Amino acid sequence: CGIVGYIGEQQAAPILLDGLEKLEYRGYDSAGMAIYNEGKIEVVKSKGRLKVLSELTHEGALLPGNLGVGHTRWATHGAPSDLNAHPHENTEETIAVVHNGIIENYLKLRERLEGKGYRFISDTDTEVVAHLLDYYYKGDPLEAITRIIHRVEGSYALGIIFKEHPEEFYAVRKDSPLIAGHAQGGNIIASDVPAVLKYTRDVYFIENEEIARLRKNDISFFNSDGEPLTKMSKKIDWDV
Ligand code: GLU
Repeated sequence: CGIVGYIGEQQAAPILLDGLEKLEYRGYDSAGMAIYNEGKIEVVKSKGRLKVLSELTHEGALLPGNLGVGHTRWATHGAPSDLNAHPHENTEETIAVVHNGIIENYLKLRERLEGKGYRFISDTDTEVVAHLLDYYYKGDPLEAITRIIHRVEGSYALGIIFKEHPEEFYAVRKDSPLIAGHAQGGNIIASDVPAVLKYTRDVYFIENEEIARLRKNDISFFNSDGEPLTKMSKKIDWDV
């Protein structure tokens, strides 16, 4: 399973597909992408190999846009299917989420959200994150993310797009890996180093409960209360 996200000068979809391919060794049963383009979040996802996603999108060419998150899924809650594949969205399709890991208290959260009128369409634990973000989002993505960090239990690496904030996207993790770095006239996140080696040797290792905000020209880090953090990148000296 794996996550890749990109914002920058280049078209996002081909970069996501390439990065996900480098993470194939982690194993997966489905793949998908969410791309922001012209005021809309477009989601394409499918059960099966990455090749299926690649063919559906003509190697990404059918998905224009310079901001996106991609995912390969190793199903833990809900069978491998097109519907359970990530990304998952809130009902209005204004927030898109990719997730690796397990939300341990998802049933309790799901029941509470259903009690508030939220409707779920998948069998995944991940979908609660999309609706919970919707519940806490009042215009400030960072604030919504800090609220969910304090309510979600379990392990997660998350890549999140907010339609109302097309100049940035967010990443946060706990007990599932996630790194960030500069790439291709922009910035990238990935589950592991092989996905970014082609672009950079300077990598930021996002620590537990840290939040990264990626913009075209900038990566900023925050703690779980939304306070800014100063982080140094690490030099990777892997041979490829
Ligand atoms: N628990 C999530 C699911 O089953 C994410 C699995 C993963 O890490 O890919 O959809």
